[in-house]
Amino acid sequence: MEKFLCPVFDEAFSSWIYRCIKGSPVVGLMLGNIHVRSAPAKFIGEVRYEDPDFDLRSKFIRFCRKELSIDDDVLVATTSRMGGSLLPWSARRLYCSECLSRDIADGLLPAWRKSWCYVTSAYCSVHHIELSYFLGHEGLNKGWAAFAVEANRIKEPPSSKVFRIWQSDPVHSTKNEILKKVSLWLDESFSQSDNLALRQRLECFEFVLRMFLQSPTTQHVGGVAWHITHWGRGGSRLGRYRYSFIHSLRMGVIEAKINERVCAFVLAAKVFSIVSDEDVGVMAEAMRDFYYYFSLSRFELGRRSATFGCRQDYAYVIRKLKSYPLARSPGFMDFLMGIQSEEVR
Ligand SMILES: [Zn+2]
Repeated sequence: MEKFLCPVFDEAFSSWIYRCIKGSPVVGLMLGNIHVRSAPAKFIGEVRYEDPDFDLRSKFIRFCRKELSIDDDVLVATTSRMGGSLLPWSARRLYCSECLSRDIADGLLPAWRKSWCYVTSAYCSVHHIELSYFLGHEGLNKGWAAFAVEANRIKEPPSSKVFRIWQSDPVHSTKNEILKKVSLWLDESFSQSDNLALRQRLECFEFVLRMFLQSPTTQHVGGVAWHITHWGRGGSRLGRYRYSFIHSLRMGVIEAKINERVCAFVLAAKVFSIVSDEDVGVMAEAMRDFYYYFSLSRFELGRRSATFGCRQDYAYVIRKLKSYPLARSPGFMDFLMGIQSEEVR
């Protein structure tokens, strides 16, 4: 009996292993009850998982490799990665509902894609739709679990007025167009990872995303993208954190679901001049009464993103942004000046 299934294009290693376990009794027997290992992290209540998709040193990959004698070509194909920062394993919850449905139509168990695992993941460039966010657990079977959620979802119109506008045209189609442009812009950096300028451009984009998505905490008001869903998710979340400014920058992009993420993408696209003000104009006009940040100038966006608790935080952000050559381009300078204006004040 054939031991392995063929990996789906762009499939993550752990997803492929899960499908092999389900598709082959031999692999099922050999891997037994394999799981992704974790360890308690620095902060109370946090758990840090190994990376079973991209880290060849992880126990998960080493164990599978040893038990199954996986071919090097297959290993490279399923664990190779693009440039840019990965989300931690437990936060890899973004998926394309069309990709999962397509797998089922092809007679496969739904496969989790590698391109959904990044800080900059928000859009499926195969189906031209924004990704969805999986709320279930982070087990190996999450491709199947996410598909089950999609299949059982009752298609109701969004309950609040702001989300009705957010999910309907013209806002919906405009944000899709913007996401498409951002995706092409990012692909250029991904495909030329040895190009230093493009790599720095990507790092700079990620940093601005982190600013827009900074976690609201007891000390910091948080990034402007969270305002689309009123402070993230309520008081307990705010009370839980006594994190530093830098930690809240790290956490926000990990905890953001799809709407905050898309919001941050649109704002970043404006700051980086990937889209014009006119491109964002339709969204700005339609959302104006609920979320006015789309209509702000780059300078004003910078000013609203200056959420520092102290001078060291300010110095950190400015030092970081100025380290990117892109920071000298005119549009980006406006954003930077907006941030600096808050310190000057
Ligand atoms: Zn897709």
